[in-house]
Amino acid sequence: MDVSVEKKLHDLWKLQQIDSKIDNIKAVMGELPMEVADLEDDIAGLETRVQHIEEEVSSLNAEISNKKNAIKDFQAAISKYDEQLNLIKNNREFEAIDKEKEIAGLEILSAEKKIRDFGKLIESKAEILASTQQTLDKRKADLVFKRAELDEIIKENEEEILKLEKDREGASKKLDDRYFRAYHRIRENMKNGLAVAPIMRGSCGGCFSKIPSQRQSEIRAHIKVTDCEHCGRILVDQTISGIAAKEEEKEVKTTRRKMRLTTK
Ligand SMILES: [Zn+2]
Repeated sequence: MDVSVEKKLHDLWKLQQIDSKIDNIKAVMGELPMEVADLEDDIAGLETRVQHIEEEVSSLNAEISNKKNAIKDFQAAISKYDEQLNLIKNNREFEAIDKEKEIAGLEILSAEKKIRDFGKLIESKAEILASTQQTLDKRKADLVFKRAELDEIIKENEEEILKLEKDREGASKKLDDRYFRAYHRIRENMKNGLAVAPIMRGSCGGCFSKIPSQRQSEIRAHIKVTDCEHCGRILVDQTISGIAAKEEEKEVKTTRRKMRLTTK
């Protein structure tokens, strides 16, 4: 029996248990953190869109009021031309002013047409604005609901998360770099997040493959850190895992159920 190997196995198992607890809390949170982030992105995008449309509408309204002012000016000019035309005797002068009056009339027609066009544009923008605003309101309501749900879960588990994170830091420091990296490399590849698995009724507690009895004896002897030939998880025996024979069966069932849930 190698004391340093035994210590390594204990440290690895300890870290695994902490990570599994953190995984369980994250599983309860599920997709919520991502859904909240997505909603926040959506809302920011929609708010920018609403703002742009409102700016467009207000600049169209400004254009309309410019055109209305221009029409007033042209109308005033026409009245002035009319007064002048009444006084003029000279034919050539008359024609010149009459031409000016005609141009002012055409300008008014063109400005009125522009006002109608801008009005139609505003109408269509108002429709887009209403439907965008509706979507925005719906997303905001969703966010309030989801965020409350997430906050509640975080609040419920806050103390435990903080404690687990602290424990995790401590447990990580105990492991040397090589095992710490190996642990994470294995864990990343496992759907159930188990890098260290207990032997359960002669099988790997991670993948449930039978472990040859020779290998089981080696694992029990704590001669070296041994992995499962099938899945590559680090295997620990009962003296490390502390899972009594009676509990093993229960643990197998729970793990199997979790595996089914996570692989769905
Ligand atoms: Zn295995």
